[in-house]
Amino acid sequence: MRARADNEEEYEMETESAYARFAAIVDSASRIAGITDPVLLERMKTPERIHEVSIPITLDDGTQQLFTGYRVEHSSARGPYKGGIRYHPNVSLDEVKALAGWMTIKTAVVDIPMGGGKGGIKVDPRKLSVHELEALTRTYTDMIARDIGPDVDIPAPDVNTDSQTMDWLSDEYEKVTGIGGGAVVTGKSIGHGGSLGRDTATAQGGFEVLEAALKSTGDSFGGKKVAIQGFGNAGANAAVLVTRAGAIVTAVSDSTAAVIDPNGLDIDALISFKERGGSFIDMVSANKASTEQPLFEPVDILIPAALEGQITGANAERVQAPWIVELANGPTTPEADAILERRGITVLPDILANAGGVVVSYFEWLQNKHAEHWLREEVEARLAVTMRYAFDAVSKLAAERHVSLRVAAYAIALQRVAAAIRSERPFAVPR
Ligand code: NAD
Repeated sequence: MRARADNEEEYEMETESAYARFAAIVDSASRIAGITDPVLLERMKTPERIHEVSIPITLDDGTQQLFTGYRVEHSSARGPYKGGIRYHPNVSLDEVKALAGWMTIKTAVVDIPMGGGKGGIKVDPRKLSVHELEALTRTYTDMIARDIGPDVDIPAPDVNTDSQTMDWLSDEYEKVTGIGGGAVVTGKSIGHGGSLGRDTATAQGGFEVLEAALKSTGDSFGGKKVAIQGFGNAGANAAVLVTRAGAIVTAVSDSTAAVIDPNGLDIDALISFKERGGSFIDMVSANKASTEQPLFEPVDILIPAALEGQITGANAERVQAPWIVELANGPTTPEADAILERRGITVLPDILANAGGVVVSYFEWLQNKHAEHWLREEVEARLAVTMRYAFDAVSKLAAERHVSLRVAAYAIALQRVAAAIRSERPFAVPR
């Protein structure tokens, strides 16, 4: 048996921060939500259940290794637990607890009848072969099979997991439980019951929210300049959508460099370049701009679509865009948030702006439950309506209470979760 390679010190350090951040914003938004009952507030912060598993895997060389996995079930007040599974060396229980809590908030902001959960395995997936990753996923599924289920807890992809991972999970769950149909997990490949429109859902959700926000000020996309940090699933699809709506993307970056042209970039050419495996550093080696440069460009709309913690107390004064659309999770630190608010910059917060993915995950689950297959147009039309309703409710509360869209989004979510907890017949997961 190989020893566990976990760095316990790092584990403890991370433990504090993410969950503490989640609890702090819930505390502050609860005042706007009018939640004064301390027990109710504590329930909205604390996970209902935590599962921790030790996953033994036989590696390709015949040795065994043990990995730690989690599934945190934060809230089922509004429906089955819903949230992704990430594979990363820095996964810690506290991070998974925070991420599960954020899923409860996100599903409530967009008002889909689901709760919040999250899972993770502390592993560096780049060090495992495909065969080893499949074994890890299947054994993890075996170990949590009695805790998840189509009406109980529905995982999805997250960092370093994808449709292949979800196909393995769905297949293994069916083998262990005899329950097929694929509704135990979302984000599957189309051939295994995945939904059309899931690939573009996060970008489209952010686009719909931004369009509604511009419209609410009598504005539109026409001629707007846009900068995007991160050119993967969320960022590249957002570039396509805003360009189609009449905006001009002038700056994008990946993890290697930024590509900038004040007259507008050729998005289709950049996407083809990335699809061929290119890195932006190879396009711009003579005149390299840093990966964070899009954050500071003179544009109308800034879309962080890469990593968390990019706009900070140290650089928020340099942001020039009056609109920020958070497609990434947590790209703005609390210190930066205060600076941006003081400067009158409007932030469309992650829990609203990037919730399109979980909305279409819910649509996938509905299709699987009813043995249906929706057209892409149908998925996109339903997503658009869901996102616009969510934005309208959040912006109305923000205007009424003179708070940021972020605080208003949390407050609405907390009100909805509190109402479900207080109701006489809250959703109860069948066990
Ligand atoms: P992805 O892996 O497809 O793309 C990430 C992109 O960011 C890549 O282009 C990568 O090169 C770039 N990048 C990495 N580090 C960077 C850096 N330091 N500077 C600039 N660019 C950098 O990931 P994704 O699915 O597009 O997710 C991006 C963000 O959106 C993440 O924060 C993710 O949590 C969030 N998000 C994604 C979804 C979804 O459905 N894809 C849903 C909700 C939230």
